[in-house]
Amino acid sequence: MRLDRAVEYRDDPLWVANALKDGSTRLVPLWRSRSLLQRDTEGTIAVYLAPDQLGEPDRIQPPTLLGSDGKHTYFAVSVTDRQKDEILAGYPQAGFSDLRTASIHMAAKHAGILAYARALHYWQHRNAFCGVCGSPNRLRSAGHRMQCSNEECARQGFPRIDPAIIVLVTHQDACLLGRNANWPPKRFSALAGFVEPGESLEDAVVREVFEEARVQLQAIRYVSSQPWPFPASAMCGFYAEAVDRSCSTSDELEEVRWFTVDSLKRAILDQSILLSPSVSIAFRLLADWFKQRGGGDLETLARRE
Ligand SMILES: [Zn+2]
Repeated sequence: MRLDRAVEYRDDPLWVANALKDGSTRLVPLWRSRSLLQRDTEGTIAVYLAPDQLGEPDRIQPPTLLGSDGKHTYFAVSVTDRQKDEILAGYPQAGFSDLRTASIHMAAKHAGILAYARALHYWQHRNAFCGVCGSPNRLRSAGHRMQCSNEECARQGFPRIDPAIIVLVTHQDACLLGRNANWPPKRFSALAGFVEPGESLEDAVVREVFEEARVQLQAIRYVSSQPWPFPASAMCGFYAEAVDRSCSTSDELEEVRWFTVDSLKRAILDQSILLSPSVSIAFRLLADWFKQRGGGDLETLARRE
């Protein structure tokens, strides 16, 4: 997502107030953590509102400055049940839905804006009270900082992100995919887990892969990351090389399997496995490995299936 986060304006109330009056500004409404979406022929699209479509901003829960794409400045805004009904009356084709499933069919830029808005909304709503003295928290810095309203306490809080690792384990010409019993039928994916306190990302990779599949690693390489605000993670993607192909199932994974490019291709085409959505970093790690090993474009193949 290419959005200038306008960090330098977050503590400039005049700038924020002017931006909120500007006709080019777009509000990203959230109702109970759900996003305003509309289906059209191209897939799912985000519905944004102009400032005059929502009346006076709430003083207790003011809009949160997200940033600017050069054309529009975006603010996330929490809407009440009444506002929700008013909005939907103006957009009969739209609805408030869960972003996690809808984002699969969305343009990356808008899925990114909505995910960013949802993550801040989630944090704000779960931190209404100070964790030290219990007084109400107040939003500061255009929604990016909390401060306890008790002046003697005045504790500050910032959005929390839970780091998680996701790793495609490989051994020579094969990669390891696992299946969690709670996933949709036939879904296989790269292994993943949360980083624990006091642990490096690399240590988390080694621990999770051994815990989930009893596989020992000999080399680890960081690749890329993806925000995953469901509810508040940042996924850090790795490739890792296994010592050998011995593996076994665990409490978390009911099945673990090694796939070569050919066996993966066959499994996709005969529909014996289903992969993660193509927007996910799990899919990206696998698709890049697949391409490097001469398998071609995994997205095209998965779509054909
Ligand atoms: Zn406090």
